Amino acid sequence: MDFNDTPEEAAYRAAARDWLAANVAEHKAASHADDMAAARAWQARKAAAGYAQITWPKEWGGGGGTPIQSVIFGQEEAKHPVQYGYFTIGLGMCVPTVMAFADDATKQRFVGPALRGEEIWSQLFSEPAGGSDVAAIRTRAVRDGDDWVVNGQKVWTSGAHYSDYGIVLVRTNTDVPKHKGLTMFWLDLRSPGVEIRPIHQMSGGSNFNEVYFTDVRIPDAQRLGRVDDGWKVALVTLMNERLAVGGGGGAGPKEILKLAREVDAGEGKLLHDPAFRQKLADWWVQAEGLRNTRMRTITALSRGQTPGPESSIGKVIAANQLQDIGNSAVEAMDQYGIIADPALAPLKGLFQSATLNAPGLRIAGGTDEILKNIIAERVLGLPGEIRTDKDAAFKDLAVGR
Ligand SMILES: Cc1cc2nc3c(=O)[nH]c(=O)nc-3n(C[C@H](O)[C@H](O)[C@H](O)COP(=O)(O)OP(=O)(O)OC[C@H]3O[C@@H](n4cnc5c(N)ncnc54)[C@H](O)[C@@H]3O)c2cc1C
Repeated sequence: MDFNDTPEEAAYRAAARDWLAANVAEHKAASHADDMAAARAWQARKAAAGYAQITWPKEWGGGGGTPIQSVIFGQEEAKHPVQYGYFTIGLGMCVPTVMAFADDATKQRFVGPALRGEEIWSQLFSEPAGGSDVAAIRTRAVRDGDDWVVNGQKVWTSGAHYSDYGIVLVRTNTDVPKHKGLTMFWLDLRSPGVEIRPIHQMSGGSNFNEVYFTDVRIPDAQRLGRVDDGWKVALVTLMNERLAVGGGGGAGPKEILKLAREVDAGEGKLLHDPAFRQKLADWWVQAEGLRNTRMRTITALSRGQTPGPESSIGKVIAANQLQDIGNSAVEAMDQYGIIADPALAPLKGLFQSATLNAPGLRIAGGTDEILKNIIAERVLGLPGEIRTDKDAAFKDLAVGR
């Protein structure tokens, strides 16, 4: 493991730092529209400088750089109050799938606008019957002339309410095992028959949606990959999920230490409470473990290697720690803990926000249990899960009826 930049990496970091210092504009968003406009402007500026998708080829508007350069830029960018979350799923997962499977004309039409933040993409995989087990999805597509007619429902579709396009996984064959009867398409989310219903979250936000399909016609020309070969396409999407090795930050041990110095608990400050000190020490040790695991991933990238499944460890630990720290801080704040308004709550409501958002983080991108299965099977080499439905036709499964 190597904690230091190579001379080339240090030079790249210095250039990125200078560029960010010269280009980040102070912006306080007053509304969602305002926030979106600022995010689009920032994305366009990065695209013009080759910083929007550093690892993409230059011919597609990328930076023609390496994964480690992308990590370095991400670490530096995270130090600034800029917004780019709207584009993460599209640029990290959907558009790379389009680039891998669509024809040249489609790529020419869509890659540039997505890169510049002009168009936003969503990933429509999960359904009420298929989340961890995506291959169990039931949304059906039936061929009709040059089109496919799609009926069914997706759920937890992040950003669909502000997205323009999406990639959608559907079932095209029920006579074969579940992984073998899926097909992927791209579609315009404003197509007739697509209904997007935002889900209201306990945090007050609405970041994801239910998406209903009623006789939606998708031209066969919008198919990505071969008919019934959508599982292979979906794996490309999932493998492109951005490596969560960036800057960290947020409600961590350092922030709760700051709070513990200020909050009263019984006879003195919370920091002097022995039970709290024990927890703080545990979080500190975890945070160091996380930092070292991330450094191992970054070292692999720096050496041109592909990081292994051990990066799943980071997500399980980080999401659980965030929830644990958030809950402990909210409890320690006593009645102030229930004030979530950033204008009134201590540390601008950082811990209240952690408490409300951490449960979702433990589910998104693979639940704790699924990631532990990956660690057990692929890192520790333990026996695989028993899969009784692997060879059965989808129509013969309980979920397939
Ligand atoms: C913030 C957020 C954003 C999301 N964004 C998107 C998006 O943009 N697009 C999209 O398609 N989806 C999205 N999702 C959906 C997400 O991928 C699923 O919620 C996730 O895969 C879990 O699926 P599920 O909700 O159906 O739960 P289930 O798969 O039904 O799981 C229920 C419980 O059973 C456990 N479980 C399931 N299988 C196993 C097993 N084999 N072994 C042990 N335990 C198991 C799970 O760990 C969980 O505790 C998002 C979710 C969240 C929370």
